[in-house]
Amino acid sequence: MGVDGREKRFSYEDMTALLAEKGCRLTEQRDIILKAILSFPLTFSPMDLEKLLMVSDPALGRATIFRAIDLFLEMGILEKIHRESGDDVYLVGSVGHHHHLICRVCGEIRDIDSCPFEEGIHEIMRQAGYSEGYHRIEIEGICGVCKKVSEENPEEHSGRSRAHGGKVRQFH
Ligand SMILES: [Zn+2]
Ligand SMILES: [Zn+2]
Repeated sequence: MGVDGREKRFSYEDMTALLAEKGCRLTEQRDIILKAILSFPLTFSPMDLEKLLMVSDPALGRATIFRAIDLFLEMGILEKIHRESGDDVYLVGSVGHHHHLICRVCGEIRDIDSCPFEEGIHEIMRQAGYSEGYHRIEIEGICGVCKKVSEENPEEHSGRSRAHGGKVRQFH
């Protein structure tokens, strides 16, 4: 099992290939929206996307943007993440069945690239006579960097970690 950054996140080519595979046309509008989505370093809210597109492509309607988001979610091109704070965010999907590890302080997201839950879930379903299940499990915690920051600055315990600015770290 491995935990990585988001090395397997879909590229533009992966996304357009997925659309083609499922028989969806890459319309000019969908293309614009795909590229906008890829311009976010990590997560974005529907509002973020709308704001970005309002500036770059004001002709795109709100309904078009939301329809595209729904389509991309359905195809796994986009993933939705439920945050404990209540605001769902989206991020570019990645290859294969995986789970997310989310830092509740800085918002970093890592992929867990194999499923540690499969067996237990399969057993629950078998006992209940269920089949064809799927599951979504997200793990929220405090990443190593944020933990270290809070230990070094105990007086700044509340709020976002300032040492890495509450920003998203880049993985290399
Ligand atoms: Zn963190
Ligand atoms: Zn799983």
